[in-house]
Amino acid sequence: MNDTDQMTQYQAEFRAFAQDQVEPYAAEHDRSQKIADHIVPQLAQRGYLAPFLDKKWMGKCLDMVTISLLHEEIGAACSSVRSLLTVHGMAASAINRWGKSALQDKVLPALVHGDLIGAFALSEPNAGSDLEGIETTATLHKDGYVLNGKKKWITFGQLADLYLLLAKSEKGPIAFIVERQLAGLDVVPIDGMTGTRGSMVAQLNFNDVLVPHENVLASPAFGNAVMLNALNFGRLSVASGSVGIIQACLNASLVYADKVQRFGEPLRNHQLIAQMISNMTTDLAASRLLCRAAAESIDKDTPDHVQSTFLAKYFSSTAAMRAATNTVQIHGANGCNESFPAERLMRDAKVMEIIEGTTQILQVNIAELEYQSHRQRSKNLTR
Ligand SMILES: Cc1cc2nc3c(=O)[nH]c(=O)nc-3n(C[C@H](O)[C@H](O)[C@H](O)COP(=O)(O)OP(=O)(O)OC[C@H]3O[C@@H](n4cnc5c(N)ncnc54)[C@H](O)[C@@H]3O)c2cc1C
Repeated sequence: MNDTDQMTQYQAEFRAFAQDQVEPYAAEHDRSQKIADHIVPQLAQRGYLAPFLDKKWMGKCLDMVTISLLHEEIGAACSSVRSLLTVHGMAASAINRWGKSALQDKVLPALVHGDLIGAFALSEPNAGSDLEGIETTATLHKDGYVLNGKKKWITFGQLADLYLLLAKSEKGPIAFIVERQLAGLDVVPIDGMTGTRGSMVAQLNFNDVLVPHENVLASPAFGNAVMLNALNFGRLSVASGSVGIIQACLNASLVYADKVQRFGEPLRNHQLIAQMISNMTTDLAASRLLCRAAAESIDKDTPDHVQSTFLAKYFSSTAAMRAATNTVQIHGANGCNESFPAERLMRDAKVMEIIEGTTQILQVNIAELEYQSHRQRSKNLTR
């Protein structure tokens, strides 16, 4: 089988799973603010939790191009379930890259089998976009580090067994894997999110929590590098999930505009409706290409892989918001009611513009990286 056939086969497998096991539960996940009990075991059974891990950790060794397709298909079905794959993958990839071997042996196979769930804990009540604003402290102790502080908006914080976390220490920013059962850690559910409402968001309160030395990732002071690397995975996942949202919007709009008659014609015959559908179609194609380019650049570890991922996330998330707003518009009042998926897609799309780097932060970062590469190109020319 060649690579293209293999990819087509994977995509068909992901789509069938997403349509049969995830999409029928999406509205209920949104209403109940949690995911159905069968989701984690089913994801684990198919090897979709951390599928990039090596076979020695029971992973599937999948590349990022294939994982991007998985996150697109799951994202088209339910953004809350896709966000589980995102944060779980961020924690697993950080442990895989930076963890000590005792920690890897202990948790990586369990993360693949769904016996443990991982989450990503960076944001705080006073720090989201601004890494330097982190207030959670890690104080050196003979048996490890003592954590004090709060982490907020932690996706699947209610469900997770371990958290990839950043704190500040005397030596600089430091990244940890914090296990949930540690004394002094309090997990408080947060209800009432706008979108991805099934993603079981929590606040984590740390009160003298002792984390052992073996749970430190990389060297102390390299914490930002650990988190930025995990965020790169998260960004591609959110970008791919946004492509899924656009696809879901387009499908819903095509069906509705074909079925519903206004002024004696199907809606699709009205040119202003056709314009919205053609814009969605174009945004879908462009977003998919940007995600593909970003995934390939991560797989090949090219120097522009961070910029490629910024571009994919910035474009796809804003395109998802455009597509979802227009899907509501095409549905009229029906788009404003939960009996159609349009309004949920719009609420989920809004979240895509905020998580894993807001639209504004990405705009600033993209311009900055472009200046850097322009300076490098100019230097090379004058040599
Ligand atoms: C549903 C949901 C799930 C989340 N899950 C997680 C999670 O699992 N783990 C986690 O750590 N966090 C999570 N977050 C938090 C998320 O990462 C932050 O909300 C995000 O990074 C933005 O931070 P903030 O909310 O503090 O906004 P702020 O940083 O306060 O920004 C507020 C506004 O100001 C703009 N802004 C800020 N700085 C600048 C600047 N320099 N230039 C221009 N504009 C600027 C921003 O773009 C934004 O529009 C989640 C959030 C949501 C909504």
